[in-house]
Amino acid sequence: MFNKRIKIKELLNSEPQEQQETVMGWVRTFRNNQFIALNDGSTNNNLQVVLELGKFDEDLLKRITTSASLKVTGTVIPSLGKGQKLELKADTVEILGDSDAEKYPLQPKKHSLEFLREKAHLRFRTNTFGAIFRIRHSLAFAIHKFFNDKGFVYLHTPIVTASDAEGAGEMFRVTTLPFDNPPRLDDGSVDFTEDFFGRSTNLTVSGQLEGELGATAFGEIYTFGPTFRAENSNTARHLAEFWMIEPEMAFCDLEDNMNLAEEFIQYIIRYAMDHNADDLEFLRQRLLDEEKQKPQAERSELDLIQKLQFVTENKFERITYTEAIDILLQSPAYKKKKFQYEVKWGIDMQSEHERYLVEKHFKKPVIVTNYPKEIKAFYMRQNEDGKTVAAMDILAPGIGEIVGGSQREERMDKLTERMKEMHIPAEELWWYLDTRRFGTVPHAGFGLGFERMVQFVTGMGNIRDVIAFPRTPKNAEF
Ligand code: ATP
Ligand code: MN
Repeated sequence: MFNKRIKIKELLNSEPQEQQETVMGWVRTFRNNQFIALNDGSTNNNLQVVLELGKFDEDLLKRITTSASLKVTGTVIPSLGKGQKLELKADTVEILGDSDAEKYPLQPKKHSLEFLREKAHLRFRTNTFGAIFRIRHSLAFAIHKFFNDKGFVYLHTPIVTASDAEGAGEMFRVTTLPFDNPPRLDDGSVDFTEDFFGRSTNLTVSGQLEGELGATAFGEIYTFGPTFRAENSNTARHLAEFWMIEPEMAFCDLEDNMNLAEEFIQYIIRYAMDHNADDLEFLRQRLLDEEKQKPQAERSELDLIQKLQFVTENKFERITYTEAIDILLQSPAYKKKKFQYEVKWGIDMQSEHERYLVEKHFKKPVIVTNYPKEIKAFYMRQNEDGKTVAAMDILAPGIGEIVGGSQREERMDKLTERMKEMHIPAEELWWYLDTRRFGTVPHAGFGLGFERMVQFVTGMGNIRDVIAFPRTPKNAEF
């Protein structure tokens, strides 16, 4: 058996009692032919490996370079160095893989995030990305734990679908037809009956419609999978491929939905705080350093950990869309013409409006409800006023929209009427409408954009830095 190693995280948490241990990892730095800072990805904290002078071959020492991989066996002893309780006094050092320091793209110094995006295949080996991706893992794990503990069924909804869930038309087509000469119908349009699935298909933009089928049988389900949007928005909050969590609950109204979303968000943040304290501390410090470049007035009042603490300990603000518009119209920003986009009842709020509400006005997450039906999807439940629907968006400081959800229209007549108005073909969604035909129930759900959540918890400004290999317009490297 090759792997009898102890992970560095575990070793650093143990007591030095002259025990024999084997570690494996990658060299971060090597000083004075004596001190190796070894990292194995289990934590940002490196293990100091000490080589006794004269004990090891010159040839071997030369091969201990940045990012070379090593297997070291030795004795765990108390450390005299600052900031570490123990170190490993090496008995044997084996080079598992050499690394040419001249050619290795990352140097032991601070690189910009932009530079590291071009080296995304190696950026996990930096402290920043080590911290981000361990936190991302914890959040994903916490999401499953949260829903599992509540008895939700994890439903895998399809990635290739024939339905355009939102009528949004921002989809990636999936086809095996030859694109230079596809079979055509008499009228010149492409004949998709000849395609692989015998019809036109695309990558899913949301698992919600299928999620509703699950909820109206299991009671409560959630999905957690990749979704795709061919929207050409090159922003710091949009990806073409992102992960979404979509719980869907039967016997649930808008208020139940809001309560669940709030509890859920607070739970997963707290989970990361409990399990990733070191990584969050590293990112807190990183952000503080970054903010030192900014003028005092633009720096955050709370540091990263204080912000997360605040969000887990305080109720989210809840306002209606109509109230939100009133606040914007009354705001000094509006009066001083600081908004680029128009503000009036009926608009789809722009990010500047959402950020004003959360960052300037309320200074906490805000749940906005009851949006005009014209700007929301066909399946949202119509309110008595005839103008609004039982929608809810959760807006987070620094991010904007993090959750979009609603109570669903369970009344068949209202639903089909709205579909007609919005030109959604009822024949194609016959299977969806069957949930309303056979034992319809009040139900609700929401979608949380996973990367936006990871951005919020890590404090990273650009969504490309919280997914391993970002897919954005004109970019699918790696
Ligand atoms: P936005 O207005 O920010 O584009 P949306 O209204 O298109 O969002 P929904 O269709 O409600 O978003 O999707 C649910 C959630 O998925 C959003 O609240 C957001 O967190 C996330 N999300 C949506 N589009 C993207 C994207 N392109 N990249 C990353 N996350 C996204
Ligand atoms: Mn969008």
